[in-house]
Amino acid sequence: MIIAKDAVVIIDYAIKDTEGTLLEDSDDGPMSFIQGTGVLVPGLEQALEGKKAGDRLQATLTPEEAFGTRDEELVLEVGLDDFQDPEEVVVGLNFQAEINNEIRFCTVESITGDTVLIDANHPFADKTLSFDITVKDVREATPEELDHGHVHGEHGHHH
Ligand SMILES: [Zn+2]
Repeated sequence: MIIAKDAVVIIDYAIKDTEGTLLEDSDDGPMSFIQGTGVLVPGLEQALEGKKAGDRLQATLTPEEAFGTRDEELVLEVGLDDFQDPEEVVVGLNFQAEINNEIRFCTVESITGDTVLIDANHPFADKTLSFDITVKDVREATPEELDHGHVHGEHGHHH
């Protein structure tokens, strides 16, 4: 089966910057997602469309096709008591939070008294990135997976 909307796709991946420095890879195990749900950056979903298990591909994506461009309005001040575990908040902490109705990847920039400066821009924003992808498996999603918007089972979500 080939990759198309609503297919469950399992990939190994490596992300490099334009100098070839490895930024992130699937060393901890392959990544699974449902094609068309926007889990992957848009350029990658597009590059994977029509591929099948065993295919390898390499794609260089602009910031617009990958994690977007920096938006200084996403550098925000929040209160230390807005965090669930205020004592765990340290400079450099990464977490996910809902900002403007979107789950965003955030980094703590500084802490001044009870005020925390966070950057909700993705760490890979503004970067042109090279993706090396190996398609491990492609299968049909179950109705339950489509309903939940994520993959269940060995490489997926446990609940
Ligand atoms: Zn689920």
